[in-house]
Amino acid sequence: TFSLGPRISNWDEDRKVWLEKNPQFPNFVKGKPRILLVTGSQPAPCDNAIGDHYLLKALKNKIDYCRIHGIEILYNMAHLDKEMAGYWAKLPLLRRLMLSHPEVEWIWWMDSDALFTDMVFEIPVSKYKDYNMVIHGYPDLLFEQKSWIALNTGSFLFRNCQWSLDLLDAWAPMGPKGPLREEAGKILTTSLKGRPAFEADDQSALIYLFLSQKEQWMNKVYVENSFYLHGFWEGLVDQYEEMIEKYHPGLGDARWPFVTHFVGCKPCGSYGDYPVERCLKSMERAFNFADNQVLNLYGFRHRGLVSPNIKRIRNETVAPLVNVDQFDIRHAARHTT
Ligand code: UDP
Ligand code: MN
Repeated sequence: TFSLGPRISNWDEDRKVWLEKNPQFPNFVKGKPRILLVTGSQPAPCDNAIGDHYLLKALKNKIDYCRIHGIEILYNMAHLDKEMAGYWAKLPLLRRLMLSHPEVEWIWWMDSDALFTDMVFEIPVSKYKDYNMVIHGYPDLLFEQKSWIALNTGSFLFRNCQWSLDLLDAWAPMGPKGPLREEAGKILTTSLKGRPAFEADDQSALIYLFLSQKEQWMNKVYVENSFYLHGFWEGLVDQYEEMIEKYHPGLGDARWPFVTHFVGCKPCGSYGDYPVERCLKSMERAFNFADNQVLNLYGFRHRGLVSPNIKRIRNETVAPLVNVDQFDIRHAARHTT
């Protein structure tokens, strides 16, 4: 049978001992848990050059967010396990990273096609102190509707602990490419509301696991919907102008979405569920909406949400530190958390 690696059963104790022996690598820094944001893309180029350009923009967006908020970032392009290719690739990767970075407290997976659109908002980590996983979703869609979109695996956090290793082991068996994944896909389509017929995907498999073993897992899973840890792009990208008019970054919810995720768009592959032009235009809008929040510190913004060109919004000054104090997001973030 398939396994992600040799069974590890003593991780919490072993990690604790390691942390005590390595005080130069603390899992908490200044009272905050160390977070590693993990993202990545396939080892080969996109089918289309524009796809690679948007992978680069999506990475720049994540680097900006992580720099501003003191989060470490890792971009993976390797297939650690040939059988777990595609959207399943995150499972062996997350396991490997947990074991190789015992100093990291939370591992945060984020899809390449998800962008931060609120550069000020911070995850309320203290709220999750008694939980091991944080994922965007809706409990009623999950347990009453058994919907295949009840949770979204495009952006979620995992605590570095034994529980998470166990969850990965329980989650992985539908992943191996070939007949196993195909057969599992049929079970998932029969079991989950709204699911089209296709091979097993990581999101459906996780939902199916939580439905079938609710007692075992759900007491440590925080199903978050008070802000957009994942936000479906279609309902958001046309609202950005209105948001700018009415609200401000830092809210993270429908008023100013934390994350805009381009589910169903495949700008890097050859086909998706939406026309490519609509996806690219929408991604450009999300990128610029976010990038304006970054450029603000430097006194610039994009000419419009679909323009890569920028314009000056403040005159140069001989007292630049006044602007630093006023416009650096990190100053505001420190005050609100
Ligand atoms: N991914 C990866 N390596 C791969 C294929 C995918 O790291 O070889 C990542 C990538 O970040 C992507 C995510 O897995 O956004 C999810 O896969 P996919 O894009 O196929 O699904 P979607 O995001 O459309 O749900
Ligand atoms: Mn995605």
